[in-house]
Amino acid sequence: MITSRFAPSPTGRLHLGHAFSAIRAHDLARDRGGAFLLRIEDIDGTRSRPEHAETIIADLAWLGLTWDAPVVFQSERLEVYAAALARLRADGLLYPCFCTRAEIAEAMSAPHGATAVYPGTCRGVDARDRMNEPHCWRLDMAAAVSAAGARAGPLDWNDAGVRVRAVPEQQGDVVLARKDAPASYHLAVTIDDAAQGVTDVVRGRDLFEATHIHRLLQALLDLPTPRYHHHELLLGPYGERLAKRHGAPTLANLREDGVDGPALADDLRRGQLPKGAFRT
Ligand code: GLU
Repeated sequence: MITSRFAPSPTGRLHLGHAFSAIRAHDLARDRGGAFLLRIEDIDGTRSRPEHAETIIADLAWLGLTWDAPVVFQSERLEVYAAALARLRADGLLYPCFCTRAEIAEAMSAPHGATAVYPGTCRGVDARDRMNEPHCWRLDMAAAVSAAGARAGPLDWNDAGVRVRAVPEQQGDVVLARKDAPASYHLAVTIDDAAQGVTDVVRGRDLFEATHIHRLLQALLDLPTPRYHHHELLLGPYGERLAKRHGAPTLANLREDGVDGPALADDLRRGQLPKGAFRT
């Protein structure tokens, strides 16, 4: 049986692009008699707001979407993420990083090492006396890739029927627990998709690169790999990304204006932007 999910972050209001993604995930499950789940990704304590979560849930119900289990809130699952971090730390795959944003920006723009990834400044540094200083935890990518290879062989995933090879090393030593949040998106999303029995992850093409990291974490934590379906993003009337478009209506705006939610969802299913939704 298929289980899909929609996993918004309550850091703002949903727009039509989110609705498009939620509908695709919902319909994939519904068309095949499967289950659809809703998870609120609210681990970012500084940017997440409970009122946004409430609005998101009302927006999705307004669209006519239904889900088959109580909504899961990541903020209630922090000990699960902490246990996974402890395991990766015990396996020697994490290191604390004390760099500030400014230091990282400077290191990354250094002429000799022009690189878009964290240069590994804190890797291998003896941090025993510094653990009361603010720090995040980074994955030692080279060690992680070699541990995953030894454990699971070459890593790949099925993306809408196409086999994709995972190349997480391109992203360097990614952060798995932030200074201000006990887990990163990468860690929480990977653990929760497995914990909720998600077989099919439907999400926008903008998250494709993240899947390289998720596939690696699945190998390191002995978690199953779902099928992925990264879809093209819904674009605005001028071909622009909706999230970035100034003045794009939020779902809450449309709902409050009395727009018919299920009819709007059907427009999006046909790939059409709802008429009158944009002041072009
Ligand atoms: N919470 C993420 C976001 O809103 C999406 C998570 C996912 O679908 O994997 O961008």
